[in-house]
Amino acid sequence: MTAPQPLIAGNWKMNGLGASLEEARAVAAGLGDTPARVAICPPSILIHRMASALGGGPLLIGGQDHHWDDAGAFTGDVSAEMLADAGASLVILGHSERRAGYRETDELVASKVKAALKYGLEPIVCVGETLDERKAGKALEIVTGQVRGSLPSELAGKTFSVAYEPVWAIGTGLTPTTPEIEEVHRAIRATLVEMFGEAGKRVPILYGGSVKPGNAAEILHADEVGGALVGGASLKAADFLGIIRAL
Ligand code: PEP
Repeated sequence: MTAPQPLIAGNWKMNGLGASLEEARAVAAGLGDTPARVAICPPSILIHRMASALGGGPLLIGGQDHHWDDAGAFTGDVSAEMLADAGASLVILGHSERRAGYRETDELVASKVKAALKYGLEPIVCVGETLDERKAGKALEIVTGQVRGSLPSELAGKTFSVAYEPVWAIGTGLTPTTPEIEEVHRAIRATLVEMFGEAGKRVPILYGGSVKPGNAAEILHADEVGGALVGGASLKAADFLGIIRAL
């Protein structure tokens, strides 16, 4: 069984203006012969401009979220089809900032995943425990439960990834130890195999939460880590490239 091709995705969150397209251009120019697929997920309003600026090179573009429905009276929202039409080929779904801040449940995330698939977007589905859940010894139970609940059976035969992002590690500078990351990634792998059979072995499991150039090599080479979802350190090309080159 060949290992899945690693994926390193940058989540710009609600950061970035037109001038930030320079950072994306610099990342594209610096990719070299990385073995990873690399994506930047800017705010949706920048997707079309980023696609034009990059001119179809190897740097992929993703959205950060979308509505579960196709179209309609959903003021302020964007649909999966709109992201794809603007030039996105992937989308982050179920990020903890959406689960916590917008009360997104596993069921809702699963419905968004189905919408993503309908319009040809490759989902990156995020899961992760809070600090209280970890302290209570429930990290594996919470994370595997989120995997089961957020990944619909429609993903069978499709390209997607799972991002393990401990909530307490996001934007905090804190990271789990390598054995802690490996323990959760192995549990996610076992759940994916339960759900999708052999194909579950080929799903990249990304780690996310305070990945920086200085800790990237150890994290990216840990067992069952198939790439990274990077927030803050993806905003500057030099930092993001430092992470990509650590692979
Ligand atoms: C994220 O929000 O997906 C993330 C991993 O953020 P950071 O790298 O800033 O911790």
